[in-house]
Amino acid sequence: MVPTGAYDAATAAIGHEIHRTAFVHAFGGAIDTGGLAAVALRFDHGLVNFAEHLLPLAVDRGITVSQAYNPRNGDLKENRGVLHSEIDDWIRQGHVEIWNHSSSHRGVTTTADLHDEIVAAIGEIGEQLPSAQGKLWGFNPPGIPGEDYAGFDKGSTPENWMTEAGRMILAHHAVASGHVAGTSQRILDGQVRDGLAHVTLDTRSVDEICRRIDAVVRKRRGLQLMMHPSRLGMDGKITLDEVIAILDHIVELRDQGRLVTLSPYELLLANAQVPTSADTSPR
Ligand SMILES: [Zn+2]
Repeated sequence: MVPTGAYDAATAAIGHEIHRTAFVHAFGGAIDTGGLAAVALRFDHGLVNFAEHLLPLAVDRGITVSQAYNPRNGDLKENRGVLHSEIDDWIRQGHVEIWNHSSSHRGVTTTADLHDEIVAAIGEIGEQLPSAQGKLWGFNPPGIPGEDYAGFDKGSTPENWMTEAGRMILAHHAVASGHVAGTSQRILDGQVRDGLAHVTLDTRSVDEICRRIDAVVRKRRGLQLMMHPSRLGMDGKITLDEVIAILDHIVELRDQGRLVTLSPYELLLANAQVPTSADTSPR
């Protein structure tokens, strides 16, 4: 019986560890990039623009992307009209993986409300998207202006993750993203980590994003790019042509054998370290 109240740190750690064991095994362990950098794409809700404009670009380029999903926000304008069955097809076909992004993206503070947002979402997503059942490994904390899940904030410090919300997230998920400083260029050593940061495309220039991609290529590190599809083409926000330019840059580097594209779950398992001779000898 999973406890539904507050989690002490030890309970949270046990839950997290076992979820992680299942996650690592489901993916077959570390993912060898052949010594190359890796880039992954994450899209946070905005299902209308995602379905119409962005997902087709990723599918064309053979890139599996993630959706940070809120099961109770289907009626928002940015999501309305995209059917659960359509999303489930994307998952089944291997085009999209799903991350828990909370039930409704609300800012809440009480134990009951935190449970409703962080934990209840898991079952609701599984009901709406059967193909995501048993594969909902990760939590992408929602950004909520002015609200912080009672001290969780953005998940950038150890103290954030020790809060009730932090413990609850960890107890029920194998992996969780965050904003730990210094982690936007991820070390790719096959060790799964929590709290890793991403780079948001919404208001950045193509030049800046391409420079960031080139930097991880040089360093053989990992880059998690994220965007809000709802902001596509809005005043001062990234345009479709700019997204295409970034994707073309990624694919050009991939074609040149200088990076690999992975899904966000896979990126957490990526290992770019060239094996030593001892590692390659038969056992
Ligand atoms: Zn969000």
